[in-house]
Amino acid sequence: MKEDKKATTGSSLEKRKSVAEGGEDGYQNRSSRTLYTVDKDILHLAELTEQVGYYGYGLENYHDLKDLLEAERQKKPTAILMHTAFLSKEPANLALIQEVRKAAGPAVPLLFMTETDNFEERLATVRAGGKAYFTKPVDVGALIEVLDEHSFQEALANEPYHVIIVDDSPLQATFASAHLRKIGVETLILHDPSVILQAMNDFSPDLIILDMYMPAASGIEVAGVIRQIEAFVSIPIVFLSSETDRDVQLEALSLGGDDFLTKPIKPEHLISAVLSRAERYRRLRSLMIRDSLTRLYNNSAMQERLNQETLRSSRQGYCFSYAILDIDHFKSVNDTYGHAAGDRVLKNLANLLRQRLRRSDVIGRIGGEEFAVIFPDTPPAAAGKVMTELLSRFAAIQHRTGSQTFTATFSCGVASYPEFSTAADISNAADQSLYEAKRRGRNQVVLAES
Ligand code: GH3
Ligand code: MG
Ligand code: MG
Repeated sequence: MKEDKKATTGSSLEKRKSVAEGGEDGYQNRSSRTLYTVDKDILHLAELTEQVGYYGYGLENYHDLKDLLEAERQKKPTAILMHTAFLSKEPANLALIQEVRKAAGPAVPLLFMTETDNFEERLATVRAGGKAYFTKPVDVGALIEVLDEHSFQEALANEPYHVIIVDDSPLQATFASAHLRKIGVETLILHDPSVILQAMNDFSPDLIILDMYMPAASGIEVAGVIRQIEAFVSIPIVFLSSETDRDVQLEALSLGGDDFLTKPIKPEHLISAVLSRAERYRRLRSLMIRDSLTRLYNNSAMQERLNQETLRSSRQGYCFSYAILDIDHFKSVNDTYGHAAGDRVLKNLANLLRQRLRRSDVIGRIGGEEFAVIFPDTPPAAAGKVMTELLSRFAAIQHRTGSQTFTATFSCGVASYPEFSTAADISNAADQSLYEAKRRGRNQVVLAES
């Protein structure tokens, strides 16, 4: 999320991430990902170029390390994929690789490819700072996986924590907010606790700081309301109050608070209390809401997002689209190539969706070989167009298992708000359209009609 780091108040909550994040409809800018290769195997490079292209990557090849270094200084790639032949023991080469890595910086992973897989060579790549090792022909699905994992970790590390501060005193709230913002935390101040549930939906906090005594409701009562809601039972709540009575403090903790900090508090104590809990919550939440095979949202998280999107869109008068995808004849993929190859296909589809869709689109794996996408602010025709394009890209991807390759297709149903008005109706309509796409012969997208 690239929102600016200003503190927001309740009134500006309605601000949404815009439809387009670069590119005329937000889908173009994804092709600015470039893979720099250093290799001489033209035939393999041609195949690699085509296959990474389906995931939205461009490929530029260089014949030696000097050319690579030159190019890198002009424009940094997303990753570098080098043949192990350049890892020769010549000190000149090794020094050049160090320069290549330095120019790339930690955000650009260095990867190696080779014809023969052996321990000595793997060791040499690790020593050179290699993040992955591929035998040729490179399994592009596995390559994209490595790139994706890398950028996921980068994004996670760079995603600021979100903290909601509920305090009727502007002075107190501003004190906490200012110190947290100084270290890059995004804060939302609420003087009135009655808007907390709305704010939690919109701001997705990693932690909530509650004042104990406010005119509308006590902090303990507000915590009680938050804890009533299934989705918020594990969000950390920290009380910040001048209350020094130990019994009251203990009561607050027993009723759903995670910590009790007393005012006046030293900024460094506030910061460490917030950071340690927010970080733990992030990790826990990621395990709860993500599918472990694909790292996409799992089914329950996806249903929750669909509910949220329906509420938000109705409140703000936006439309949105919802697509359900199901891989065609997936059972026969498993039967023919094995379960591991089937898993590879699932991951490849997940990566394709991640690479090609906008950051604001919400992607989930809602069943074994079923996926779903929420397209905010997108009418059905536009979502259908995107899905149709993805359909043809997916069909062209070579899934690799050992020395064999094969292709697969999916079918897709799309339904939209406000044509369908509740999350359940939207989901059912998308499902029925998917069924219709299967019936009409698969490998196609069907839009639901109201
Ligand atoms: P259709 O085109 O009608 O969708 O046919 P299909 O074969 O894809 O549908 P079906 O529902 O008959 O089969 C789905 C298969 O997906 C059966 C199941 O073994 C497989 N599957 C579900 N989850 C996973 C998974 O995590 N990994 C793998 N490899 N296979 C899975
Ligand atoms: Mg299927
Ligand atoms: Mg199915």
